[in-house]
Amino acid sequence: MGNIQTMSTSLANQIAAGEVVVRPASCVKELIENSLDAGAKQISVTLREGGIAQIVVQDDGAGMDEADAQMAFRRHATSKLFHERDLVRIHTLGFRGEALASIAAVSRVTLTTREGGSEYGVCVRVEGGEMSPVEHVGATFGTRIEVADLFYNTPARLKYLRTVQTEQAKSVETVQKAALSRPDVAFTCQTEHHVLFQTPGNGDVRAVLAALYGVGEAKQLLAIEEVTPDYRVTGFIGRPTQGRNSRAQAHLFVNGRPVRNVAVHQAVVQGYKNRLMIGKQPVYSIAIAMDPSLVDVNVHPHKAEVRFSEEADVCRCVAGAVAKALDETLLAPTPEGHRPREVSEAQPFALDFRPRQSDDGTGHEQRRASLGGTRLSYPSGARSQSPSARELELAYGKPATGQERENAVVMEGDGTSSNAADGLAQELFAQARKENWQLRPIGQALGMYVLADDGESLYIIDQHAAHERILFEEFYKRLSGREVHAMPLLAPIQLTLTPSVHARVTEAADRLAQLGLTIEPFGGYDVVVRTVPDVWEGLDVHALAEETIAGIPSAGASSEDFFQTMHDVIATRACKAAVKANWYLSQEELEALCHALTEVEDPFHCPHGRPIFLQWTGKQLEKEFKRIV
Ligand code: ADP
Ligand code: MG
Repeated sequence: MGNIQTMSTSLANQIAAGEVVVRPASCVKELIENSLDAGAKQISVTLREGGIAQIVVQDDGAGMDEADAQMAFRRHATSKLFHERDLVRIHTLGFRGEALASIAAVSRVTLTTREGGSEYGVCVRVEGGEMSPVEHVGATFGTRIEVADLFYNTPARLKYLRTVQTEQAKSVETVQKAALSRPDVAFTCQTEHHVLFQTPGNGDVRAVLAALYGVGEAKQLLAIEEVTPDYRVTGFIGRPTQGRNSRAQAHLFVNGRPVRNVAVHQAVVQGYKNRLMIGKQPVYSIAIAMDPSLVDVNVHPHKAEVRFSEEADVCRCVAGAVAKALDETLLAPTPEGHRPREVSEAQPFALDFRPRQSDDGTGHEQRRASLGGTRLSYPSGARSQSPSARELELAYGKPATGQERENAVVMEGDGTSSNAADGLAQELFAQARKENWQLRPIGQALGMYVLADDGESLYIIDQHAAHERILFEEFYKRLSGREVHAMPLLAPIQLTLTPSVHARVTEAADRLAQLGLTIEPFGGYDVVVRTVPDVWEGLDVHALAEETIAGIPSAGASSEDFFQTMHDVIATRACKAAVKANWYLSQEELEALCHALTEVEDPFHCPHGRPIFLQWTGKQLEKEFKRIV
């Protein structure tokens, strides 16, 4: 009886802090958000001991007056949200008014701030929730918040923190995301010793990416853009060869807020079709701008996740934007648009196959694919690339239906890119290819190229790239369908491992067995490999087993991660077995290669994103030979 009391404000704040502030990076995130909400154009973040000892965030934003500087630390004190109806159209990053109160409950905070027009700055200190009297101090315009000794009064939470390196990495990642979300703001991220990175704040996302990942990496990225009446998707994606082992470089922003969203990530992956290597994650920085009422940002304590009311629409838009950028860049280069060279040039017979910009100024590369009696434009968003009614007819092998013809007419009629048109043409292309494409080998040239013709075009096929693609798809299918079987070895392979690798192998033994790799202990750090995945049949299994064992993920990998990584290792190692240059192929082998190429999902590029073939249509050759003009 009489046991229930209202808890003290400072205790309530400490409990609330448990949700908002879990580590230095969460403070960094909240403080940066406040600076951005205050209209800052320059933000500097300094971390001491990964932010555990001290975090300083300094901005040149609006600042606060004396009263606000004190109010700011009260729970549910905010200048951003006053009415319930505001909650459905949030334009600021913060709105709950609990960050500063929470941070101050578990650290020693010093706030120094000066409003535009004010003669002096004000400074308040809050320690364990207790506020010092306000002082007037000299200060630059803007706000500087120093958070020292995080969790000094909550030892249990302090213990939960990881190493300085880990905490610093998480804090830096937070600043990186903020910098990517706001290329118009100049960020500096430093430790007490040196500057980690600095962005120019000139509005250019690629400049931010260059500051974070290096100029070389940033240059490779492809720009994407897709605009519908409801959504605007923009940003950069990596080429398939830039895939990473983790999602650390996968950045998504919704209305300027860094968020995670599994469905959108999958949509990006889907947009790559199967160009990404197994187990690799795409690199991207994608921003989606949309009506705030179509997205709920208030579903997660750190606002790190969002819920879309029309998730499928968002995903379609993202996948389409990604696919379009990759298709435009990576499709098989053809010499169309290529001007015959002057004979006086140094290499009169060297043809230039580099993709060219179209002449119509749309920036879209001209690409035509011509397959087994069917002539289709490959979609690239440019008006001239949309299939005509006649082309649809050819693709279907029957007159186009009214609806199809109408689509085609619409496509020809409006000059803008049309998602539906792209999707349709792509499907037709795939279908036409599968059904009609018959590639007849002519022979092999220079020990590395296969010449082939399909009755309509002449092809030069890179035999290694083609074989790699064929093997890759085969392994991928079998691995993902769990159709790998153990192939017993006549002579088991005995290997001596290092203690750490031995520990990993022992731990993963059951899961490896599911992939056909049976490894048994053999005393000390020795093991014997008794069976290997049957997809390795005919390959150097000894070398493959050694490489695969070296690639086993360390303990603690989730089941999904484990299988992803191992699929990757098993399949990519096997791809190495693909025919190399100077392997002379028999007629049967040439025929098998050409046939298999017509069956794969993506005959255009190898798993590393390089082109598989060059193609000339009969007409293009006639032009080259000046039979027609
Ligand atoms: P919220 O951001 O949800 O409003 P916070 O606790 O993060 O809540 O901040 C409380 C208030 O303090 C903000 O609404 C804002 O008025 C003020 N404030 C905090 N940081 C800054 C800053 N860097 N510059 C100007 N005002 C700030
Ligand atoms: Mg805030």
